[in-house]
Amino acid sequence: MSETNRRITLASRPEGEPTAANFGLDEQPIPEPGDGQILCRTIYLSLDPYMRGRMSDAKSYADPVNVGDPMCGGTVCQVVKSNHEKFRGGDIVLAYTGWQDYAVTNVEGVMKLNPEQAPISTALGILGMPGMTAYTGLMNIGKPKDGETVVVAAASGPVGGLVGQIAKIKGCRAVGIAGGPDKCAHVVDNLGFDACLDHRGDDLAGALAEACPDGIDVYFENVGGAVADAVYPRLNPFARVPVCGLIAQYNATDLPPGPNKLPLLMRDVLTKRLAIRGFIVTDFLDQWPQAAGEIAGWLREGRVKYLEDVVQGLENAPAAFMGLLQGKNFGKLVVQVGHDPTG
Ligand code: NDP
Repeated sequence: MSETNRRITLASRPEGEPTAANFGLDEQPIPEPGDGQILCRTIYLSLDPYMRGRMSDAKSYADPVNVGDPMCGGTVCQVVKSNHEKFRGGDIVLAYTGWQDYAVTNVEGVMKLNPEQAPISTALGILGMPGMTAYTGLMNIGKPKDGETVVVAAASGPVGGLVGQIAKIKGCRAVGIAGGPDKCAHVVDNLGFDACLDHRGDDLAGALAEACPDGIDVYFENVGGAVADAVYPRLNPFARVPVCGLIAQYNATDLPPGPNKLPLLMRDVLTKRLAIRGFIVTDFLDQWPQAAGEIAGWLREGRVKYLEDVVQGLENAPAAFMGLLQGKNFGKLVVQVGHDPTG
């Protein structure tokens, strides 16, 4: 941990895939908290696909990061100085302080963590935003029923991995899709999915037909692109599709070439009465405490598992983030920025 505040900033907006030139690194004095504020030291920084959207100024559901500002992001921090009665020096908190060593923040939205309950990094993964995404999207929109088939891609990641495990708890057949044999082996052997298909293999459509002999009742959409093209024709009548993410197109600068498949999809929406609904995890904010409680219970009972991919050093965050968009992470991607006093 440095004696100054290192910040990874947005140096310029990417055109297509982000490159190292889109990120800057500067050093500032460690800031002083004002009245009612706290000074936080970052321990873990979460890297998530949505950050690609914040690098762009295209209209979206959230404001972009300004060029020159630190990249945004969820963090697990230790409070260094507190000017707020609710927090004391040494507290471990979940905050949203971005890609930097230190930050001063107001306390709205800052949550104290209990390191005795779970490893503190899980507040960024299975017990945090990605876990809430999997739970609320699947339960509210996917509505999995006993005996149904649930398909999810990015299945070794924090969202997809939990979607399939909850599907199993609900009595479903869980079929994952992931990039490469190692991820697929993890999804079946450690997370307990019934099958996992490699989307980098030759014939995803054929593999899906084999792995889903009764069709697909819930497709939890994490990626879009070629994976979605293979899945949609296999949806059953009355299938539900929570549209959570479309990572295959986050770097796109144009529409893909080829025929316009929208009429085929709309025909299926009509004739199969498909329910396709996008959501943002904050749409279900009121359900987070209940969801977190239930997931924590499953975790304690060993009914759900998680995998973290921990990269060391703030300076390595840009490369790790660019790797995330290419599928190079294996599990929930976090950067350890500073010493973890609980570890
Ligand atoms: P992951 O940790 O799973 O990382 C993303 C993964 O996406 C990569 O590891 C890679 O896995 C896969 N991927 C990347 N490019 C492609 C591609 N072209 N085709 C198929 N797969 C690809 O991410 P998360 O679990 O954090 O997030 C999963 C999805 O959920 C993302 O789309 C994200 O934006 C979305 N999300 C949405 C939220 C919401 O509120 N709606 C909240 C949180 C996440 P592999 O190697 O297995 O292909």
